[in-house]
Amino acid sequence: MPAMEAPRGNKLTVSPTLSGWVFVEMSYCEAIRQHTRVSGVFSVVTVGQDAATLSDLRLKKERFMPTSEQRIIRRISELVAADSVSSPDPSWDSSNRKVIHHLTDYAKRDGWAVELQELGSDAKTKANLIATLGDCGETADQPRGLVLSGHTDTVPFDAGGWDSDPLILDERDGRLYGLGSADMKGFFAVALEAAAAFDPKEFKSPLYLLATADEESTMRGARSLTKDYLPKARAAIVGEPTGLRPMRMHKGIMMQGVTMRGRSGHSSDPDLGNNVIDALPTLLSVLSRYREELAQTFRCELMAVPTPTVNFGCVHGGDSPNRICGELDFSFDVRMLPGLEYQEVERELNLRLMEITAQHGIDIDMRRLVEPVPAFEQAVDSELVVACEHVSGHQADAVNFATEAPFLQSLGLETIVMGPGSIDVAHQPNEYMSLDQIQPAVASLRELIRRYCL
Ligand SMILES: [Zn+2]
Repeated sequence: MPAMEAPRGNKLTVSPTLSGWVFVEMSYCEAIRQHTRVSGVFSVVTVGQDAATLSDLRLKKERFMPTSEQRIIRRISELVAADSVSSPDPSWDSSNRKVIHHLTDYAKRDGWAVELQELGSDAKTKANLIATLGDCGETADQPRGLVLSGHTDTVPFDAGGWDSDPLILDERDGRLYGLGSADMKGFFAVALEAAAAFDPKEFKSPLYLLATADEESTMRGARSLTKDYLPKARAAIVGEPTGLRPMRMHKGIMMQGVTMRGRSGHSSDPDLGNNVIDALPTLLSVLSRYREELAQTFRCELMAVPTPTVNFGCVHGGDSPNRICGELDFSFDVRMLPGLEYQEVERELNLRLMEITAQHGIDIDMRRLVEPVPAFEQAVDSELVVACEHVSGHQADAVNFATEAPFLQSLGLETIVMGPGSIDVAHQPNEYMSLDQIQPAVASLRELIRRYCL
C-alpha cells in the first residue's frame, strides 16, 4: 500500500487493491498513476454528482483490463482466501466447503444448476460440486456435452517460505501469487468466465463444471464420482496447470508397504530366531529384477522418464545389534506407464514375494499405503485430442504428474489435461498464475465449449 504525496501537499494513501476501489480527489489521479507501481490507466467514476464539482470521486484501477478479467481476478482471490488444504495428515486436513460455497454462488449467479455430491458426514465433511449449464433435451445416442473439471483442494503450505500471505492473492510483476492460484483455483474462475459468453438456451449439449475434493491426498472426490452426475457428457478437460498445452498421458502411481516377519531372539545363537534382515537382500534383488523386466517391457518416448520406475523409499526394522531382527517394514512406489495396470503389478509382486517366503521361512505381506492412481492415456487420434491440439496450437504431450484424468476417463469420457499456469510453481512457496495466461485460457475454453455444446 504505497503512500504518496498528493499535489496539494496532502498525504494520501492509495490502495490499488484487486477489487480496485479507493476514494480520491480528482486532481490526484495523475499523481496516483505516477506514484503507484500499477501500470495502466485509472478510470474515474462519479458518485451521483457532476465530476467537476465533486471532491470525492471513486477511482477504479483499470490496468487496460477488460471487466471480465477483473471478475476473474476477484474470484481467484476469493477462492485462494477460502483455505482448503487436503492431506493424509489429519492436523492439516480441512474441509473444502468454503470453496464449494463460493463456486456454488458464482455458478448460480451465472445461471448454472448446481448439485453437490456429499462425501462423508463428519464435521470435516467434504463435497464435490457438479454444475450444469444448458437444460438440453438432447436425445442423441452419443452424448456431446463437455466437462470442465478441477480440484478444490490445495496441498499444505509453509507460510514462512512465502513473500506474501499465501491465502491473500497478491498481484505483482504481472502475476497473481497465492496458494492454489495455478493448482488449480484459477481454472474455476477462468472456466466460469469462458461459459459466461454463451446463451445457454442455444446449447445443444450441456456444459458441466466439476469441482472435486481431495485430489491432493486420496483423490476420493474423483473416485466417488459416477456417470449419473454427468449424464450427457462426452469429453472432459482437467484444467491442471499445463501452460495451456494439451496433455494426453501420464504415469500411474502406487505406493506399497511390505512387512517381513521372522522370529527375534538372542544374537548369540542364530538358530534361536529367524532374522528378516538376512532376507532383505533377496527382497531387494527380487524387486530390482522386476524393475528391470518392467523397463524392458514398457517404454514410451513421450514421457520424460520413458520406462516404469520402482523406487525403494524406506526401510525400518530391528532394535538392537544383539537381538535377532524379527520384523522389518519396507516401502516403495511404482510409477506405471499406460498399459501396465496396478492390479497386474500387485499380482506379479505377490507371486514373487511368496518365493521369498518359501526360501527364508518368513511371513511377508504387501499392502497399499494409498489407493493407486492408474496411468492415463487418451488416444492420439481421439476427437478431444485433435480439438485441443487445434485450439492450443500445440501437439498433445505427456506430463510427469498424476491427475484425476483416469477416473473421468473410466466414466467413458474422452479426457485431456489442459489448463492455465505452470506446474513448476505448484506445491511450493510463491505459487503464481501469470496474468498473461488468463485471456488465452478463456479463449481456448470458449472455442471448446463452442465445439461441444453449440
Ligand atoms: Zn492439481
